[in-house]
Amino acid sequence: MATIPVAAATMKLSDFEKASSELPNTEKMPVVFIGHGHPMNALYDNNFTQSLAALGKSIAKPTAIMVVSAHWETRGTLVSVNPKPSTIYDFGNFDDRLFEIKYEPAGHPELAKEVIKTTAGTAFSIQEDAEMGLDHGAWTVLKHIFPDADIPVFQMSIDASKPPEYHFQLAHALKKMREKGVMVLSSGNIVHNLRRLDWNNIDAKPYDWAVEFDTIVKERLDDRRFTELVNYTALGSSAAMSIPTNDHYLPMLYTLGLADTSDKLQYTFEGFQHAGIGMRCFQLS
Ligand code: ZN
Repeated sequence: MATIPVAAATMKLSDFEKASSELPNTEKMPVVFIGHGHPMNALYDNNFTQSLAALGKSIAKPTAIMVVSAHWETRGTLVSVNPKPSTIYDFGNFDDRLFEIKYEPAGHPELAKEVIKTTAGTAFSIQEDAEMGLDHGAWTVLKHIFPDADIPVFQMSIDASKPPEYHFQLAHALKKMREKGVMVLSSGNIVHNLRRLDWNNIDAKPYDWAVEFDTIVKERLDDRRFTELVNYTALGSSAAMSIPTNDHYLPMLYTLGLADTSDKLQYTFEGFQHAGIGMRCFQLS
Protein backbone atom coordinates (compact mmCIF):
# COMPACT_ATOMS: atom_id res chain seq x y z
CA MET A 1 0.00 0.00 0.00
CA ALA A 2 1.23 3.46 -0.82
CA THR A 3 2.19 5.61 2.13
CA ILE A 4 0.06 8.72 2.56
CA PRO A 5 2.21 11.80 3.15
CA VAL A 6 1.63 13.33 6.60
CA ALA A 7 0.25 16.57 5.18
CA ALA A 8 -2.33 14.70 3.09
CA ALA A 9 -3.42 12.57 6.02
CA THR A 10 -4.31 15.65 8.06
CA MET A 11 -6.18 17.51 5.29
CA LYS A 12 -9.94 17.51 5.11
CA LEU A 13 -11.78 17.01 1.83
CA SER A 14 -12.81 20.68 1.82
CA ASP A 15 -9.13 21.65 1.98
CA PHE A 16 -8.43 19.60 -1.13
CA GLU A 17 -11.28 21.32 -2.94
CA LYS A 18 -9.91 24.71 -1.95
CA ALA A 19 -6.46 23.68 -3.08
CA SER A 20 -7.57 22.40 -6.46
CA SER A 21 -7.12 24.82 -9.29
CA GLU A 22 -9.71 26.95 -10.99
CA LEU A 23 -7.24 27.93 -13.67
CA PRO A 24 -7.99 26.39 -17.07
CA ASN A 25 -5.66 23.77 -18.50
CA THR A 26 -3.43 24.74 -21.41
CA GLU A 27 -1.36 22.83 -23.90
CA LYS A 28 1.60 21.21 -22.14
CA MET A 29 4.52 23.64 -21.99
CA PRO A 30 8.12 22.57 -22.62
CA VAL A 31 10.70 22.42 -19.84
CA VAL A 32 14.04 23.98 -20.57
CA PHE A 33 17.53 23.79 -19.07
CA ILE A 34 19.89 26.63 -19.91
CA GLY A 35 23.60 26.70 -19.15
CA HIS A 36 24.00 30.43 -18.46
CA GLY A 37 27.75 30.83 -17.95
CA HIS A 38 29.28 34.25 -17.51
CA PRO A 39 26.96 37.29 -17.03
CA MET A 40 28.74 38.99 -19.95
CA ASN A 41 26.79 36.70 -22.28
CA ALA A 42 23.97 39.20 -21.75
CA LEU A 43 25.96 41.61 -23.94
CA TYR A 44 27.46 39.18 -26.42
CA ASP A 45 26.33 38.11 -29.84
CA ASN A 46 27.91 34.65 -30.09
CA ASN A 47 26.85 31.13 -31.04
CA PHE A 48 25.46 30.56 -27.53
CA THR A 49 23.31 33.72 -27.43
CA GLN A 50 22.16 33.07 -31.00
CA SER A 51 20.96 29.63 -29.88
CA LEU A 52 18.92 31.31 -27.15
CA ALA A 53 17.30 33.66 -29.66
CA ALA A 54 16.49 30.69 -31.91
CA LEU A 55 14.97 28.83 -28.95
CA GLY A 56 12.67 31.76 -28.20
CA LYS A 57 11.47 31.84 -31.79
CA SER A 58 10.85 28.08 -31.86
CA ILE A 59 8.54 27.75 -28.88
CA ALA A 60 4.94 28.84 -28.44
CA LYS A 61 4.59 31.73 -26.02
CA PRO A 62 3.83 30.48 -22.51
CA THR A 63 1.45 32.34 -20.16
CA ALA A 64 4.37 32.75 -17.75
CA ILE A 65 7.90 31.52 -17.14
CA MET A 66 9.05 30.14 -13.81
CA VAL A 67 12.82 30.33 -13.46
CA VAL A 68 14.74 28.00 -11.15
CA SER A 69 18.15 29.66 -10.99
CA ALA A 70 21.45 28.65 -9.41
CA HIS A 71 21.62 32.18 -8.03
CA TRP A 72 18.61 32.05 -5.72
CA GLU A 73 19.52 29.69 -2.92
CA THR A 74 17.48 29.75 0.28
CA ARG A 75 16.59 27.66 3.29
CA GLY A 76 13.17 26.24 2.48
CA THR A 77 11.72 26.60 -1.02
CA LEU A 78 10.30 30.02 -1.90
CA VAL A 79 8.31 31.20 -4.89
CA SER A 80 8.15 34.86 -5.82
CA VAL A 81 4.70 36.48 -5.86
CA ASN A 82 6.25 39.88 -6.63
CA PRO A 83 4.07 41.46 -9.37
CA LYS A 84 6.96 43.69 -10.52
CA PRO A 85 10.28 41.85 -10.23
CA SER A 86 13.27 44.13 -10.78
CA THR A 87 16.57 43.32 -12.45
CA ILE A 88 19.17 42.16 -9.90
CA TYR A 89 22.86 42.80 -10.61
CA ASP A 90 24.21 39.92 -8.53
CA PHE A 91 27.77 39.77 -9.85
CA GLY A 92 31.10 41.58 -9.64
CA ASN A 93 32.19 44.64 -11.50
CA PHE A 94 32.55 43.27 -15.03
CA ASP A 95 31.38 45.95 -17.42
CA ASP A 96 29.35 49.12 -16.85
CA ARG A 97 27.06 48.24 -19.73
CA LEU A 98 25.78 45.21 -17.80
CA PHE A 99 24.41 47.52 -15.12
CA GLU A 100 22.49 49.50 -17.69
CA ILE A 101 20.45 46.51 -18.82
CA LYS A 102 16.96 46.34 -17.46
CA TYR A 103 14.95 43.20 -18.16
CA GLU A 104 11.71 43.78 -16.32
CA PRO A 105 8.68 41.76 -17.40
CA ALA A 106 5.73 41.56 -15.02
CA GLY A 107 5.56 38.83 -12.39
CA HIS A 108 2.61 36.44 -12.21
CA PRO A 109 1.45 36.16 -8.57
CA GLU A 110 -1.58 34.05 -9.50
CA LEU A 111 0.48 31.31 -11.16
CA ALA A 112 3.15 31.58 -8.43
CA LYS A 113 0.42 30.87 -5.86
CA GLU A 114 -0.76 28.00 -8.03
CA VAL A 115 2.72 26.46 -7.61
CA ILE A 116 2.16 26.46 -3.84
CA LYS A 117 -1.33 24.96 -4.24
CA THR A 118 0.00 22.23 -6.52
CA THR A 119 2.11 20.83 -3.68
CA ALA A 120 -0.84 20.72 -1.24
CA GLY A 121 -1.17 17.18 0.06
CA THR A 122 2.41 16.26 -0.82
CA ALA A 123 5.53 16.10 1.34
CA PHE A 124 6.67 19.46 -0.09
CA SER A 125 6.03 22.90 1.28
CA ILE A 126 6.69 26.10 -0.64
CA GLN A 127 6.43 29.59 0.87
CA GLU A 128 5.63 32.92 -0.77
CA ASP A 129 8.31 35.56 -1.21
CA ALA A 130 7.18 39.09 -2.04
CA GLU A 131 10.54 40.72 -2.73
CA MET A 132 12.50 38.63 -5.23
CA GLY A 133 13.37 40.18 -8.57
CA LEU A 134 15.16 38.46 -11.45
CA ASP A 135 18.74 37.35 -10.80
CA HIS A 136 21.35 37.12 -13.54
CA GLY A 137 20.72 33.40 -14.04
CA ALA A 138 17.29 34.50 -15.25
CA TRP A 139 17.64 37.79 -17.07
CA THR A 140 20.97 37.38 -18.88
CA VAL A 141 19.45 34.47 -20.83
CA LEU A 142 15.80 35.61 -21.03
CA LYS A 143 17.04 38.82 -22.61
CA HIS A 144 18.08 36.72 -25.62
CA ILE A 145 15.23 34.18 -25.55
CA PHE A 146 12.35 36.64 -25.20
CA PRO A 147 13.91 40.07 -25.88
CA ASP A 148 10.58 41.92 -25.67
CA ALA A 149 10.14 41.00 -21.97
CA ASP A 150 6.43 40.64 -22.66
CA ILE A 151 5.96 37.28 -20.91
CA PRO A 152 5.54 37.37 -17.10
CA VAL A 153 8.41 35.79 -15.16
CA PHE A 154 8.70 34.64 -11.55
CA GLN A 155 11.40 32.69 -9.76
CA MET A 156 11.34 29.67 -7.46
CA SER A 157 14.32 29.24 -5.14
CA ILE A 158 16.57 26.28 -4.52
CA ASP A 159 16.67 25.02 -0.93
CA ALA A 160 20.41 24.61 -0.54
CA SER A 161 20.00 22.50 2.61
CA LYS A 162 18.35 19.65 0.72
CA PRO A 163 19.91 16.64 -1.07
CA PRO A 164 19.72 16.24 -4.89
CA GLU A 165 16.85 13.73 -4.67
CA TYR A 166 14.66 16.36 -2.97
CA HIS A 167 14.94 18.73 -5.96
CA PHE A 168 14.14 15.98 -8.46
CA GLN A 169 11.07 14.86 -6.49
CA LEU A 170 9.83 18.40 -5.85
CA ALA A 171 9.95 19.08 -9.58
CA HIS A 172 8.00 15.87 -10.16
CA ALA A 173 5.28 17.17 -7.84
CA LEU A 174 5.05 20.36 -9.92
CA LYS A 175 4.42 18.70 -13.28
CA LYS A 176 0.84 19.97 -13.43
CA MET A 177 2.17 23.51 -13.80
CA ARG A 178 3.18 22.61 -17.36
CA GLU A 179 -0.52 22.40 -18.15
CA LYS A 180 -1.23 25.78 -16.58
CA GLY A 181 0.71 27.67 -19.21
CA VAL A 182 3.96 27.77 -17.21
CA MET A 183 7.25 27.11 -18.93
CA VAL A 184 9.82 26.15 -16.29
CA LEU A 185 13.26 27.40 -17.24
CA SER A 186 16.08 26.06 -15.09
CA SER A 187 19.32 27.99 -15.26
CA GLY A 188 22.70 26.69 -14.11
CA ASN A 189 25.63 24.85 -15.72
CA ILE A 190 26.28 21.12 -15.92
CA VAL A 191 30.06 21.73 -15.74
CA HIS A 192 30.98 24.66 -13.49
CA ASN A 193 34.40 24.92 -11.88
CA LEU A 194 35.22 28.58 -11.26
CA ARG A 195 38.63 27.73 -9.77
CA ARG A 196 39.82 26.29 -13.06
CA LEU A 197 38.53 28.88 -15.54
CA ASP A 198 40.50 30.62 -18.22
CA TRP A 199 38.87 33.95 -17.44
CA ASN A 200 40.50 35.80 -20.34
CA ASN A 201 39.52 33.46 -23.13
CA ILE A 202 35.88 32.55 -23.63
CA ASP A 203 36.84 30.17 -26.45
CA ALA A 204 39.67 28.41 -24.56
CA LYS A 205 39.96 24.69 -25.23
CA PRO A 206 37.85 22.86 -22.61
CA TYR A 207 39.54 20.67 -20.02
CA ASP A 208 39.45 16.91 -20.64
CA TRP A 209 37.46 16.34 -17.43
CA ALA A 210 34.92 18.94 -18.56
CA VAL A 211 34.38 17.24 -21.92
CA GLU A 212 34.29 13.82 -20.26
CA PHE A 213 31.64 14.78 -17.73
CA ASP A 214 29.51 16.63 -20.28
CA THR A 215 29.54 13.44 -22.39
CA ILE A 216 28.61 11.30 -19.39
CA VAL A 217 25.63 13.57 -18.75
CA LYS A 218 24.59 13.63 -22.41
CA GLU A 219 24.59 9.83 -22.59
CA ARG A 220 22.39 9.57 -19.52
CA LEU A 221 20.04 12.21 -20.84
CA ASP A 222 19.79 10.38 -24.16
CA ASP A 223 18.98 7.11 -22.37
CA ARG A 224 16.70 8.80 -19.79
CA ARG A 225 18.83 7.42 -16.97
CA PHE A 226 17.85 10.39 -14.83
CA THR A 227 18.37 8.61 -11.50
CA GLU A 228 22.09 8.32 -12.30
CA LEU A 229 22.17 12.08 -12.84
CA VAL A 230 20.47 12.66 -9.49
CA ASN A 231 23.14 10.46 -7.87
CA TYR A 232 25.93 12.34 -9.69
CA THR A 233 28.51 11.81 -6.94
CA ALA A 234 28.76 8.19 -8.16
CA LEU A 235 29.76 9.33 -11.67
CA GLY A 236 33.51 9.42 -11.07
CA SER A 237 36.35 11.92 -10.91
CA SER A 238 35.20 14.08 -13.85
CA ALA A 239 31.93 14.66 -11.96
CA ALA A 240 33.88 15.76 -8.90
CA MET A 241 35.94 18.21 -11.01
CA SER A 242 32.87 19.53 -12.83
CA ILE A 243 30.70 19.92 -9.72
CA PRO A 244 32.98 21.21 -6.92
CA THR A 245 29.79 22.70 -5.44
CA ASN A 246 26.38 21.67 -6.73
CA ASP A 247 24.64 25.07 -6.91
CA HIS A 248 24.85 25.21 -10.73
CA TYR A 249 24.09 21.50 -11.22
CA LEU A 250 20.90 21.29 -9.14
CA PRO A 251 18.74 23.41 -11.51
CA MET A 252 19.00 20.64 -14.13
CA LEU A 253 17.36 18.18 -11.72
CA TYR A 254 14.22 20.35 -11.86
CA THR A 255 14.10 20.00 -15.64
CA LEU A 256 14.48 16.22 -15.32
CA GLY A 257 11.87 15.91 -12.57
CA LEU A 258 9.34 17.85 -14.66
CA ALA A 259 9.85 15.66 -17.72
CA ASP A 260 7.35 13.10 -18.97
CA THR A 261 8.53 9.87 -20.57
CA SER A 262 6.69 10.94 -23.73
CA ASP A 263 8.69 14.19 -24.02
CA LYS A 264 11.10 14.59 -26.87
CA LEU A 265 14.64 15.64 -25.87
CA GLN A 266 16.30 18.31 -27.95
CA TYR A 267 19.72 19.89 -27.39
CA THR A 268 19.59 23.57 -28.20
CA PHE A 269 23.27 24.28 -27.48
CA GLU A 270 26.43 22.27 -26.81
CA GLY A 271 29.83 23.68 -25.98
CA PHE A 272 32.08 25.26 -23.37
CA GLN A 273 33.17 28.72 -22.32
CA HIS A 274 36.35 29.72 -20.48
CA ALA A 275 37.53 26.04 -20.57
CA GLY A 276 35.62 25.03 -17.44
CA ILE A 277 31.96 26.01 -17.96
CA GLY A 278 29.67 23.61 -19.78
CA MET A 279 27.08 25.51 -21.79
CA ARG A 280 24.88 22.54 -22.78
CA CYS A 281 21.21 23.56 -23.06
CA PHE A 282 18.23 21.33 -23.77
CA GLN A 283 14.49 21.20 -23.82
CA LEU A 284 11.98 18.44 -23.23
CA SER A 285 8.65 18.92 -24.92
ZN1 ZN B 1 25.88 31.33 -12.54
